Amino acid sequence: MDHRLTLSQYKLTNFLACQRRFQLRSLRRLPWPASPLPERTEQVLQQGQDFHQLLERHFLGLHISLASIEDGRIQQWWRAFQAHNPVQHLLPSARFLPETGLTVPLGNHLLYGRFDLLVTGEDDEGRPFAHVFDWKTGKPIIAADLQLRWQTRLYLALLAEGGSAFWPQAVPFAPEQIRLTYWFVQEPEAPITIGYSTTEHATNWNELQQIAAQLDEAFTANIWPLTEDWNHCRECAYQIYCGRQGVGTAVPELDEAEEPDTPNEQLLTPELP
Ligand code: SF4
Repeated sequence: MDHRLTLSQYKLTNFLACQRRFQLRSLRRLPWPASPLPERTEQVLQQGQDFHQLLERHFLGLHISLASIEDGRIQQWWRAFQAHNPVQHLLPSARFLPETGLTVPLGNHLLYGRFDLLVTGEDDEGRPFAHVFDWKTGKPIIAADLQLRWQTRLYLALLAEGGSAFWPQAVPFAPEQIRLTYWFVQEPEAPITIGYSTTEHATNWNELQQIAAQLDEAFTANIWPLTEDWNHCRECAYQIYCGRQGVGTAVPELDEAEEPDTPNEQLLTPELP
């Protein structure tokens, strides 16, 4: 197999939404989007990225002064973070790893994710734990939807399979010792934490392996069908390649701090506040 890919949540989501879009975007690397993002969208995206960088500096141990933050909205987010810091309850002995990536093998491919913040340590009973924090500057999302997101499933699976890279003597984390917390600037007092279990991981990993196998089949046959769900086409910049311009357009979801495959790819999936 000479088509080894590094699969991020974007690639997985694209492949499952529409195999043709996956081919055009990730294999043929056609430019996206065709037209620039609206000015407000670009500004919101930039603020989100700046806030992530601010928290990265904070967790690297650098002092952040309010006066050094020029943007009023980011100042407001920083104040909210200081008032409702979701990490403060973790043990002082825990290790804080901001903007940390992890790659694990998945069939013929690699699975990749980058965490806004990974915290590792030992709980009160001496068991190693891993806790990921994800900062969201867009609209809050309910727990049930977050649970289903590929971002959630990917991060939890990555840590269960490859988290030992972050622990001495390469001890793996039991799935029950892995958590993911989403913290929304718009609801700072109500972070959402999602746990994991051995049973969930078995199901999750099995599905990921099946997707990798589907991907191999698509490569072998070199067939990349158009989606039958035309709703996906509304947010797609490739309508003209598929003759689906008549479906209408919608502003795609934007996430300000996901892992880009190319320097510009993080502009491609906006999540608006
Ligand atoms: S327009 Fe629709 S069918 Fe064509 S690539 Fe985009 S999502 Fe797929």
